[in-house]
Amino acid sequence: MKSSQDLKNLLLSIDHKSYPAYKSAQGSYRFQDYILSIDHVQGDPFAAPSRVSLRISGKNAGFPPKLFDTFPKRVALQDHLLRLFGREIEQYNFKARGSGKSGLMAVSRCGQEILERSACAIDPGDGSLTLRMQIGFPASGRTIQAGELIRILFEFLPGCAQRSLFFRNIDASACQRTAELCEDQEYIRRELKKRSLCAFVANGAVLPRSSGVSEKPMKGAVPFRSPKSLEVSMELPHRGPVSGMGIPRGVTLVVGGGFHGKSTLLKALELGVYNHVAGDGREYVITDSTGVKLRAEDSRSISQTDISLFINHLPGGRDTRHFSTEDASGSTSQAANVIEAAEAGTSLFLIDEDTSATNFMIRDELMQRVVADSEEPITPFISRVRELFEQAGISSIIVAGSSGSYFHPADVVIQMKEYLPYDITARAKKEAAAYPEVAAASSPFHLPDFRRIPKPMGSLRGQERTKIKVLGKEGIQINRSVTDLRYLEQLADPEQLTALAYILNYSVRHLMDGRRTLGEIADALERKIDKEGLSALADASYLPADLSRPRRQEIFACLNRCRELSFTFF
Ligand code: ADP
Ligand code: MG
Repeated sequence: MKSSQDLKNLLLSIDHKSYPAYKSAQGSYRFQDYILSIDHVQGDPFAAPSRVSLRISGKNAGFPPKLFDTFPKRVALQDHLLRLFGREIEQYNFKARGSGKSGLMAVSRCGQEILERSACAIDPGDGSLTLRMQIGFPASGRTIQAGELIRILFEFLPGCAQRSLFFRNIDASACQRTAELCEDQEYIRRELKKRSLCAFVANGAVLPRSSGVSEKPMKGAVPFRSPKSLEVSMELPHRGPVSGMGIPRGVTLVVGGGFHGKSTLLKALELGVYNHVAGDGREYVITDSTGVKLRAEDSRSISQTDISLFINHLPGGRDTRHFSTEDASGSTSQAANVIEAAEAGTSLFLIDEDTSATNFMIRDELMQRVVADSEEPITPFISRVRELFEQAGISSIIVAGSSGSYFHPADVVIQMKEYLPYDITARAKKEAAAYPEVAAASSPFHLPDFRRIPKPMGSLRGQERTKIKVLGKEGIQINRSVTDLRYLEQLADPEQLTALAYILNYSVRHLMDGRRTLGEIADALERKIDKEGLSALADASYLPADLSRPRRQEIFACLNRCRELSFTFF
């Protein structure tokens, strides 16, 4: 392997040459404490910055195995180191000068959720650490400023790495706390299963965020406090005793006046599928990690989905057991979302009236009398919610402030009042007894047997060079095929969308052979990522990027929304 001195010499030799000469620096170089790899060099100073990675041997990095001996702990440690490193390089960002992105130093920005990211990966076998970052190679105009890049690679970077990526130099107790928080969170996840709960919200948790555009906790918020009847206590391995609201499996209804905190509670539960960082306020808000937010999603595309559980006898005799549309309505989209989430293996639905199609959720008694069931294609969710639990094991937590109909099928009714929950199950049930129950569904309950096989079409296929673009948190684009993901509210980070683009592209190229079902494709993808990490999805034909792992549920959701996949039944 070449030495750092070789790199320095090379850079000096291309100083003041035209920008493309930087390409010759691509390769790996041995520095004192790590191997530096220049993985990709940008085309010009205004293009996406160059990609550089550092690889530190396990022995040198020195992290004790107990900090990363389980998968969640490894993810938590990686996340912690990435945050430390990010803080270090911030002070050097654009310190080296030049045109365009010259001097940029950046690494993935971590939000409130702790996610697996390609930007920092610890090898579980030998403890070696890989950190991937972006550097804007400096130039003035298009003339290489090698001296500036030498400052970055030989002065700034070694110091930043030293201060944040080596166990001997960083705060060991902070690492320890990260691992302990993670173990406590994983303990709660296991307890949910053992105690037949679908979610836990600790007393004292801070659920609201500081504003609509900030995920930081709200200052001065009313801390969460469980109603006594729903309170459960646990003995966490590190933090010790913790109490909070345990939401039992089954059907849970959340009611209350407008602006009393219903949606805020649901939002916290939606994101409780992920672990949160210390100081977030939701560290001990833990939800069944398969939980899926269900909402209406007008105009999404649906391909060969059996929505007959909810929709039948459409005008014109359209088949709802193999339902396809390029432009779904509120109710058909929400019906497809239920079926597809079941296919993805969820055991919890999270539903907010604010984002649901009313005619999908309920039909009141008066309407039932006026418009005969035989003239109404929709069997509303309320008529299936108990069957979904009793026959398919899928619980529901439903926010509904405006209709009392769900009092009947609910096991538990929680009222939010001035941001605090009250258990009003007994009173709600008593009042509801005087009202007629919703008519049961007229057709028997069945979930389709999920054997759908996706096949790529159009611009997904047969391109020499794949163009991958991520449209913020709105969607992804592969060549000319755009997939709209803006309503997948449990995608917590744009890097998860980037990963979904890579996943879609990878599965088109390597897995969609006309025989594998969607489930088998997801299995194969997950096995590959488990074994080789997220960067295994990359391909020499397109730019490397930072990826963050989406859940299996979002992988399904993405493939199901892609307009250039056609599905057939097995
Ligand atoms: P709802 O869905 O019941 O109409 P929201 O959940 O949207 O109400 O909450 C209304 C407002 O109250 C939001 O601005 C939210 O940030 C704020 N809020 C929610 N929970 C709390 C809390 N625990 N303490 C202080 N403010 C809160
Ligand atoms: Mg609301």
